[in-house]
Amino acid sequence: MQRYNTQYTKRNSPGLEGVLELEMEVVSEYLHVGSGIYDVEILKPLSDIDQLVESAIKGNIPDVSNYFSPLVHEMNRYLDRIVIPGSTIKGLVRTRLELSVRDSCFIVSSRSNSSSETYKKIFRYPKPRRSDRFPDNVCPVCDLLGNSGLSSRVSFSDFVMDQGKIDYVNVRGQYYESSVKGSKFRGRVVYHSLKATDLGMLLYGLGFRIKNGQLKGKVMLMGRFKYSDKRFGRIVFSLVSPMQEYVKALNEFVNRFKPYDYNEEW
Ligand SMILES: [Zn+2]
Repeated sequence: MQRYNTQYTKRNSPGLEGVLELEMEVVSEYLHVGSGIYDVEILKPLSDIDQLVESAIKGNIPDVSNYFSPLVHEMNRYLDRIVIPGSTIKGLVRTRLELSVRDSCFIVSSRSNSSSETYKKIFRYPKPRRSDRFPDNVCPVCDLLGNSGLSSRVSFSDFVMDQGKIDYVNVRGQYYESSVKGSKFRGRVVYHSLKATDLGMLLYGLGFRIKNGQLKGKVMLMGRFKYSDKRFGRIVFSLVSPMQEYVKALNEFVNRFKPYDYNEEW
């Protein structure tokens, strides 16, 4: 039974409950979402290193570049599989909604790296807007995804790579572990206590648009080099089991909120 509640702060009122099963496909040559872990291998035996240190102490600064492998930037792994953290997916959805939904606050986007010219071109020089005066006044995006002091009504699992290939891509002398074009990740978004327009907003934030009466994911940018190197960072979400209910919810959201849309394919 669906119930519509216009009061944003009533968070545990009955509403839509469910799970979106999602697939995320890499549509650019590569995708690198860093784990913050760098790996360097020592290529020569340790006795050589001892000699090296000794000669350095005596004042000869040696060239050590042959002793170490180039820096490798790794992706996240869980049980030996490449994963994109749920927090990364949530951050992507949140920044897009903050940029698209009028009168939303700008808490995440204002912290992101917005000095890139490509970013400005895509998002047309977004300007910081108001912040919420919690608890009386909560914007629609915080109402859905939470903020400090307000819990989220949506949670994102990690996305696990279950098809595709990994490659190590040399960018300016360093290697980036990357999922190559056509690689697919699976994950889920669990939601509770949503109105239809909230569900529509969530789908919109994941890049879904209505084409010929069907939901279709648009190209979105994610991860390292997305604004600086066209080989990197383009992904598309799709629903594993699309339902007519989702089309209806997205339609309701678009009609009510008139969100701004952005073309991320630069
Ligand atoms: Zn807000």
